[in-house]
Amino acid sequence: MLLKALREEVLEANLELVRRGVVIFTFGNVSGISREEGLVAIKPSGVPYDEMTVEQIVVTDMDGRLVDTNLRPSSDLPTHLELYKAFPNIGGVAHTHSEFGTAWAQAKRPIPCFGTTHADYFHQSVPVTPDMTPEEIGGEYEKATGEVIVRTFHDIDPDAVPAVLVAGHAPFCWGKDAADAVHNAVILEYIARMATHTVAVNPDAEPLGRVLHDKHFFRKHGPGAYYGQPGNG
Ligand SMILES: [Zn+2]
Repeated sequence: MLLKALREEVLEANLELVRRGVVIFTFGNVSGISREEGLVAIKPSGVPYDEMTVEQIVVTDMDGRLVDTNLRPSSDLPTHLELYKAFPNIGGVAHTHSEFGTAWAQAKRPIPCFGTTHADYFHQSVPVTPDMTPEEIGGEYEKATGEVIVRTFHDIDPDAVPAVLVAGHAPFCWGKDAADAVHNAVILEYIARMATHTVAVNPDAEPLGRVLHDKHFFRKHGPGAYYGQPGNG
């Protein structure tokens, strides 16, 4: 089987979304990329998670052409491909309709950084895309979804902010591989829930100060990182 290890990793990452409670039914999808081979492995469309096998994980090239596969890929594949093309360091993409992240996407509000949990993972607020135009929606919708995300990141480092809220839709998250993308999707849901509670407790809550935000972000990321054990991220 082509790319057996990547397919196993992508299957496991998709199942992890279910275990962590951020997807229901067949909502949500995770992919991973082999940059060397220029191939992407992604969840098949419409297959229930509890029946999904490694053989069913769909492999495509960077134009979405099927390779060594009979099933149709997740319909969101073109969004994933746009992210892989524009964000060269990412190795996995996860999309969910997780409850609180989706609520902020529907409210079309970026998630402010209210505390150090957010600051550990995201170097600023989690941005929300602009609304898509009728032309974008009526054309190659999933590809245009990727393009609107990429445009939103024209002045944001995707490695420092590994998630976005697509307006009126839901979050897309990414990471160094499929498992990391799922990890970030679960964290995104957690900080979205806490931000919801924060503004419920105090509608005038202020975002975390820049100094404390930077302290938490940079102790886990970049050349000065010292959080955790060496080599464990
Ligand atoms: Zn969706």
